[in-house]
Amino acid sequence: MEIKISRSARSCAACAREFVHEEPLHSAIRIQDLAFVREDFCDACWTAERANGTFSAWKARFFDPRVAEQEPPEVFSPLRQAFYEAAESEDREQMAKAYLAAMLLRRQKVFRLIKESDAPDGEARVALFADRIGDRLIEVRDPNLTAGEMQAGRRLLMERLNQLENPESTDSPVSAESHGDVELQEA
Ligand SMILES: [Zn+2]
Repeated sequence: MEIKISRSARSCAACAREFVHEEPLHSAIRIQDLAFVREDFCDACWTAERANGTFSAWKARFFDPRVAEQEPPEVFSPLRQAFYEAAESEDREQMAKAYLAAMLLRRQKVFRLIKESDAPDGEARVALFADRIGDRLIEVRDPNLTAGEMQAGRRLLMERLNQLENPESTDSPVSAESHGDVELQEA
């Protein structure tokens, strides 16, 4: 499995004007050399024709990290933190953890599914998610994880969530109920 994360551009792909925090924008994904290429446009520059020939296009909002640093920490959930920590790991159990976290974030509507289809290289299924808070684009390839890896990933996720939510007592077991349904069978 492979998870790639890309942020929106800082300025419009057409007029080059810099975006401001929370500004609505239009994002589009093109396929170029078997890879996804993302472009972001301001509302004034976006026309329906720009979506022609793209892999996917959707509305987003610009998230300026310079402003975001001042946002209260509660906008960042433990589940999101657990996902981003594990997302770029090469370890398969960490990948399973990230995969499960992504599915839960999708259920909680923190991640919005942009598109699910075959990858440009035709060799794997790929799901594109937009993180509603950070406007990051997340590309998740078909994980092909074994049942054992999924189980280990689930245990790691529960342990990490427990640590993040109860920083004082890291050794008490966490209940599955507090995070909703984590018995995910999707793969
Ligand atoms: Zn523009």
